[in-house]
Amino acid sequence: MIIGIRLAASEAASMFGGMSIEEITARICAFRDARDWMQYHNPKDLAVAIAAEAGELMQPFVWKTPEQAESVARDKHDYLADEVADVAILLFEFAHNLGIPLEEAMMAKIARNESRYPVAKAHGSNAKYNEL
Ligand SMILES: [Mg+2]
Repeated sequence: MIIGIRLAASEAASMFGGMSIEEITARICAFRDARDWMQYHNPKDLAVAIAAEAGELMQPFVWKTPEQAESVARDKHDYLADEVADVAILLFEFAHNLGIPLEEAMMAKIARNESRYPVAKAHGSNAKYNEL
């Protein structure tokens, strides 16, 4: 039985599998701190690590046609899930360490994109907002 629960956008956005961004971030930081790794997690190295993990996410798609990329996405689903998690974990910690409220930053950006890309102009278009 499915029970419909309507959440405010901010509540829905903060939930990941029943955990809030804050709860997930706390677990990430506990993992880091138990290993005394904060000494290595300066903003530059975290940003580099995020880019490196994004590179691992892209790697299976290198030189693939759009059709082959669809196959890669299916065949390497577990690998891609692993790399998505790596990027997200580092991104959550990066935002936390820099005092960036991730949920607020994301919601503000989504609102900005909604304004930049009004449905009436952007529907079905791949143009950048300043070219609509
Ligand atoms: Mg990785």
